[in-house]
Amino acid sequence: MAVQPDIKNFTEQTLAHWLEQRDIKPYRATQILKWIYHRKVYCFSEMTDISKQRRQWFSQELRISRLKPVEVQSSSDGSKKFLFRLKDGQCIESVLIPERGHSTLCVSSQVGCAMGCKFCLTGRGGMVRDLEPAEIVNQVCAAQDDLSDPDRLTNIVFMGMGEPLANYNGVVQAIDNITNDRALQFANRRVTLSTVGLAPKINDLGRDTKVNLAVSLNAADNKTRDTLMPINRTYPIETLLSACRKFPLPSRRMITFEYVLIAGLNDKPEDAQRLAKILRPLRAKINLIPFNSFEGSPFARPDEATILAFQKVLIDRHYTTIIRQSKGSDIGAACGQLRAKSCSVDGLIKSPN
Ligand code: SAH
Ligand code: SF4
Repeated sequence: MAVQPDIKNFTEQTLAHWLEQRDIKPYRATQILKWIYHRKVYCFSEMTDISKQRRQWFSQELRISRLKPVEVQSSSDGSKKFLFRLKDGQCIESVLIPERGHSTLCVSSQVGCAMGCKFCLTGRGGMVRDLEPAEIVNQVCAAQDDLSDPDRLTNIVFMGMGEPLANYNGVVQAIDNITNDRALQFANRRVTLSTVGLAPKINDLGRDTKVNLAVSLNAADNKTRDTLMPINRTYPIETLLSACRKFPLPSRRMITFEYVLIAGLNDKPEDAQRLAKILRPLRAKINLIPFNSFEGSPFARPDEATILAFQKVLIDRHYTTIIRQSKGSDIGAACGQLRAKSCSVDGLIKSPN
């Protein structure tokens, strides 16, 4: 028998269309989404406002997937890393970060990443495959299941494994379910997508969604950015910032520019001055991320004084500039440390039941 389509790979609209083609009223899509995402019912037979016969038909035609973590690691700072094994045996990670009464989930969009940024462990491992929309949405559902109060999960950031704009369709479909009121109901302003800088896709994202944009800039001149991020040869800084300028921003929203600070490479006051200058035409705020090291990396994090001096240059030029002390570094959950290496060890991981 052919594998049934996974209902979590549909959006409300595509499901309605799929049902209509089978002579079923499209409002059933809304009804089913609410059962799954609001009431957390994962079995068609329990959807009691649908006739028994119809429920049976749904069970035959569609499946409702879930992800259960095969491992959960807790950090001393309160963050948690979930390791998931996917149906083909590949593994991904998400990180849950508690912050004053609410939580943020950092989700993965691909297994591995093709972008090859020199400072990133995920990039080092190369690309394996895109995640399906269901595999992205299920990371959110699993984190909600883990929390005693699922409403405390308020923010989603696409900053885990992978380059979200390289898996454009999968990610945009997942965002639809994450932000749809009939599905996961996250406010658009509480969802942030971080990209390496695929300029044409930034335009598409602005057209197709209303989520926040974060851009991993990491250098203020092309020479330095070329050496750190191969994608800069295709979309150099001017092209990238021009796409950012066109990105539609609701009032009071800004684009976040992420800047991994690496000792001796991009951390001088002149770099900060140049950064301030090139971001001037934009509504920009800046997240400085001191480099998180991993085994075999040739880079180091700058000392505290250098980091603070860099921040001061930007603050003096009126940029909101946060130093993001990555959470979870003791469990390999900090920015750039995700690789899901434990899944490559056959037999050590218990199957989800
Ligand atoms: N591919 C996307 C999202 C995942 S990476 C992107 O590149 O934006 C999420 C963030 O982690 C990026 O801003 C990236 O610059 C940062 N990062 C990667 N490796 C890092 C490391 N070793 N230390 C600190 N930050 C890192
Ligand atoms: Fe991929 Fe982002 Fe890592 Fe670059 S920083 S290799 S784009 S995950």
